[in-house]
Amino acid sequence: MKRLGVLGWPVAHSRSPVMHTAALAALGLASEWSYQRLPVPPELFEETTCALAGAGFVGANVTIPHKHAALALADAASPAAREIGAANTLSFAADGAIAAENTDAPGLIGAMSRDAAGCSPEGRSALVLGAGGSARAAVWALREAGAREISVWNRTAERAQELARAFDVRAVAAPEAADILVNCTAVGLAASTPVDTAVGASDRPATSGQDPLAALNQLGLTLDLVGRYSYVVDLVYRADGSTPLLRAARERGVPALDGLAILVAQGALSLELWTGRPAPIDVMRQAARAAD
Ligand code: NAP
Repeated sequence: MKRLGVLGWPVAHSRSPVMHTAALAALGLASEWSYQRLPVPPELFEETTCALAGAGFVGANVTIPHKHAALALADAASPAAREIGAANTLSFAADGAIAAENTDAPGLIGAMSRDAAGCSPEGRSALVLGAGGSARAAVWALREAGAREISVWNRTAERAQELARAFDVRAVAAPEAADILVNCTAVGLAASTPVDTAVGASDRPATSGQDPLAALNQLGLTLDLVGRYSYVVDLVYRADGSTPLLRAARERGVPALDGLAILVAQGALSLELWTGRPAPIDVMRQAARAAD
């Protein structure tokens, strides 16, 4: 049996197992491959991950809070993973060597191009909200995909400036108009709890409501301002398929892409890397959505 899994802490709510298990079945690989949750606290990450190859694992997805540690312990890393500074996909060779990849970045661009509205960043301007791990991946991805101009806004301005310096893009003091808006903050994830406390769940949907205007305001936005963008992406996703930002975009007639599509796209790229087979994206999307 070839084993796959998702390393995270916590990881109980991850949709990756259901999504990958459905994909393996659709590919006719269910009797040879399996996919499971791997709840591993930070202090045990290195030791556990280095033992996975010996336990029959050929690959693992990596989610919060382990993406930096995954890159650090890998024997080899792709240029994307190195430049972003994080890995979400590990592959284990028979001799135990670990290779790191980042499929979050190409997953974002792939999901945008596959979307019904079919958005390509090439030649377009983009504003990224946030300065955490997913913002780094988004800025890198947009730049690689030929975005004309990329700016970054973050609640903590120093972090936006730091990210802007690292990727040679522009930090802005308030959200500015652009063609594409990409939310890489945790705003919209939480219900009544402060959003910060909900971080730690990149793979986890929120399940209940938050005052939509308050959530937009936390991003320096209003309903009208959201209407200035021609395409909106929210990395956050919720059990009901919506977030305050997505709702605002739809209300203003702006095409919008939700975080579940990006989760599916990054998972599909990981699966292709491990199996060498084209991933059944529709099956993965249905399984991930049905997990609500
Ligand atoms: P992270 O590294 O912890 O960064 C969190 C970001 O959210 C920071 O920029 C932080 O700003 C901002 N933030 C938190 N609370 C805020 C508030 N109340 N108002 C304004 N900004 C706030 O997290 P991450 O890994 O980048 O993930 C960010 C979000 O993307 C999460 O919701 C995660 O679930 C989602 N995500 C989705 C996918 C997917 O496949 N769909 C993949 C990765 C991540 P400060 O710097 O000011 O604290």
